[in-house]
Parts: sequence; C-alpha cells; structure tokens
Amino acid sequence: MSKKIGFIGLGIMGNPMTKNLLKAGFEVSVFDLNEEAISRLVDQGAKKKNVADMAKEMDVIITMLPAAAHVRETMVKKEGIFAHARKGLIVIDMSSIGPKDAIELAQQAKEYGVEMLDAPVSGGEPKAIDGTLSIMVGGEEDTFEKSLEVFKGVGKDVVLVGGHGSGVTAKLANQIIVNLNIAAVSEALVLAAKAGIDIEKMYQAIRGGLAGSTILDAKVPLILDRNFKPGGTIAINMKDITNVMETAHDLDVPLPMSSQLLEIFHSLKADGKVMNDHGGIVQYYEKIANT
Ligand code: NAD
Repeated sequence: MSKKIGFIGLGIMGNPMTKNLLKAGFEVSVFDLNEEAISRLVDQGAKKKNVADMAKEMDVIITMLPAAAHVRETMVKKEGIFAHARKGLIVIDMSSIGPKDAIELAQQAKEYGVEMLDAPVSGGEPKAIDGTLSIMVGGEEDTFEKSLEVFKGVGKDVVLVGGHGSGVTAKLANQIIVNLNIAAVSEALVLAAKAGIDIEKMYQAIRGGLAGSTILDAKVPLILDRNFKPGGTIAINMKDITNVMETAHDLDVPLPMSSQLLEIFHSLKADGKVMNDHGGIVQYYEKIANT
C-alpha cells in the first residue's frame, strides 16, 4: 500500500520535491503559510491539509522549512505535529538545521511516539526538480528502512550516516565544501578578469582539468550571465555557515576559512545582496577589487 505523505514548506525546494512525490504515485497533502504555494500544488493533484490533520492522518510528514525556528514551531506548537500525532507517525525533517536542534526534536518526538529522521539534502533546485537529490540521513535504521521508498521519490544517493543529528552535521560539512568552493572560484575569476582574461575562454580551458568541479559548472555560466536569481540564497547559506561555526566551537574545531566566509556573507548582507544566489559571493570580490 502506498504511503500517505504530508509535505510542509513548499518553497524553492519543497515545491519540486512534492511534484516528484506525486509523480511517484504517493497521495500527498500539503501545507505552507503562503496560500499561493499551496494552490500551485493542489493544481497538480495534492490535497490541502492543516498541520494537525496531517499528524492525525498521514504515514509520513516531511518538513522543508527555512531554519530551526520554523521547524520547531511546526513540531511543538499547540496545533503542531507532536500534539496530534497518530501512533507510528514518521516525521522527516529535510530542512538544513543544526545538530543540537535536530537531536532535541528527535528526543521530544519519541515522547509523543513519533519516529523522527533528520534528512537534509544537497543538489539545490536543479536536483530537486530532477528528483536526484543527495540525501544524508540521521536517525534509527528501522525508521530509515521504512522511509526509503519516500526518499527514492525525491533523491538518488540516500545514505544513513549515523544517529539523530548526523544527517544535519553531514550537511553542515557539505556546506563548507560548497561555499568555500564558490569563494575559491570567485577569487580566481576576479583575478583573471582584472588581468584582462576572457572568462568564458578561461572556463572552457580549465573545466576539464583539476580545477573542474560541479560548482565550477553550476556557477560560472550564471556568473557570466550576471544571473544571481536563487537557487540557494546567501541568506540560507549564511544560516548554514552560522550553524557550522556554532557546531565547530562546541567541538573546539577551529575553521579559519569558514569564519572568513561568514564575514563575506555579512558584507554582502550589509550591501543589500542577501537574497541573491550564493553565486553572488563573486560580487564581494568584485567590490573589494574594484572591478
Ligand atoms: P524557501 O524560502 O524557498 O521555502 C520555504 C517555504 O517554507 C516557504 O514557502 C515558506 O512560506 C514556508 N514556511 C516558512 N515558515 C513556515 C511555517 N511555519 N509553516 C509552513 N510553511 C512555512 O526555502 P528553500 O530554498 O526551499 O529551503 C528550504 C530548506 O532547504 C532550508 O532549510 C534550506 O537551507 C534547505 N536547502 C535549500 C537549498 C536551495 O538551493 N534552495 C538546497 C539544499 C537545501
């Protein structure tokens, strides 16, 4: 029997993920604070349902919300998931939050008889649309096994990396790699451009060499087009790198490069660019090099 899925948070990521679950044949109910986001998916065959009714009726609820405060509110408020959960409900939080929040929510969930997984994703909007997201999961193996068919509806590589909090910690590590890569690409582009190099030609010359990467191929064409439409906003990546630094400080792990990145994000925010795609990191380098 196909599972009934509730999906909460129908933005850049949640909208295409819900479409793929519908395509995979699941019965999907949806909720968002934005009515337009709900209507778009009701037009595609989803049902509109409030959070409490989802908790009573669904087999699995997925949350794909901006940050920990939104996830916490959806789980613990009076009309939230935990207070109305039917026995055996599985809640999969696919938002990118910090490990302390993920562990605390999983412990609370248990008290209500809810099985919880933290399962953030990587791949951005293009892979959310293709249904090929990379998914890093934290939680219990039994819950993971029961959820695999749902994960396969939205993702390609789905890996249980450890217990509660491990999925979001792996995602924080992923975000260091992604954002520092964009910063490295930006430094290189601004240097070459100021030296008078044709960036399009340089990109074609280097992309098959050791500097070639998913980030180079994803971001350079957009930077060349001056297209900073998100994608993943600087705001959302700044939230992740803030969580990276908090987690690193808790573990006494110095992260000199990530702390620089956070300063770059603050500068872009002060410059009114926080809702640009994180490919817009290049605009910081352009500004300080006066190009
Ligand atoms: P988004 O801002 O586009 O969408 C978030 C949605 O949540 C919005 O539609 C908003 O109305 C809704 N929402 C907010 N609070 C709510 C609440 N209390 N109840 C119901 N709905 C609520 O964000 P996004 O880009 O889709 O990102 C969602 C999550 O996915 C974030 O945690 C982000 O870090 C992560 N993520 C994003 C990307 C990306 O490229 N955009 C990639 C990987 C992971």
